[in-house]
Amino acid sequence: MKRLGIVYHPDYLLHVPPFEHPESPERLLAIMDRLESRKLLEKMAPITPEYADEGDVLAVHDRKYLNRLEMACRRGDLTLDSGDTYLNRHSYNVALLSAGGAIAGAKAVAEGAAERAFCAIRPPGHHASRDIGMGFCLLNNVAIAAKYLQARHDVGKVLIVDWDVHHGNGTQNVFLEDPSVFFFSIHEHPTFIYPGTGRRWEIGKGKGEGTTLNVPMSPGSGDEEYRVAFEQTLLPAAERFRPEFILVSAGFDGHADDPLADIRLTYEGYRFMTRAVVGMAERFCGGKLVSVLEGGYEISSLTSCIEIHVRELLGE
Ligand SMILES: [Zn+2]
Repeated sequence: MKRLGIVYHPDYLLHVPPFEHPESPERLLAIMDRLESRKLLEKMAPITPEYADEGDVLAVHDRKYLNRLEMACRRGDLTLDSGDTYLNRHSYNVALLSAGGAIAGAKAVAEGAAERAFCAIRPPGHHASRDIGMGFCLLNNVAIAAKYLQARHDVGKVLIVDWDVHHGNGTQNVFLEDPSVFFFSIHEHPTFIYPGTGRRWEIGKGKGEGTTLNVPMSPGSGDEEYRVAFEQTLLPAAERFRPEFILVSAGFDGHADDPLADIRLTYEGYRFMTRAVVGMAERFCGGKLVSVLEGGYEISSLTSCIEIHVRELLGE
């Protein structure tokens, strides 16, 4: 058995910005090209995604929102809700295929077809909440995968580690009052960076109080600050929570070369973080780990980060 599954589908390229935009199909093309040219793709088990089942999507999103998204795409709207989140006629279907990709990765690992999976999917998801799409995100892929695991695979507790440089506000909202999903987000703050949430005192609500953990990082922070946060904050939290499955909202826009933020992570930082989540998965949940692509907009550093991420997931 190949240890690492990879989720990809050429239809992910159909979601094309109608204007100049950093979240473009070229990101995935470059990633797949790199994995192939470095002979990494052949070491991975291909996983073909399907459109997410409506029931699985509705576990996270409102019916009204889903209908609104579908109608906006059919009408030919160029944006949804906020101007930064673009649409074309394919976007609704591609969003369902993207959510279906996170589900397919989770399913493969839950059923033992792969030990781990990397989901090379788009559009990204972590800013999408129950009734709103924003920040380039239409459906919250990682949240849908977490709910899917709980509903269909008898998984109890899920840990979501979100290291995209932007706060995963959508994922946080979905699980704010849910003690069965621990949401950890490390992100740039408090400059005027998108979306502006993710302060330390956002810790969950009601029964979910204590299962949301935000670690805001000052502009200019890098590998060392992230290492300390992982070792002193995330690891002890995971130890207490004892997840049965780990999902990673893997954004690579915290790299020093990325134009959308001012965090200065290097390739070594991403290597460290990947090793850390693999280690936690080994320790707490039989290795069950699925990494889901979020942001990362500077093509050269994005592809190099992913190469390192995948090599670590392969255990090379
Ligand atoms: Zn981001």
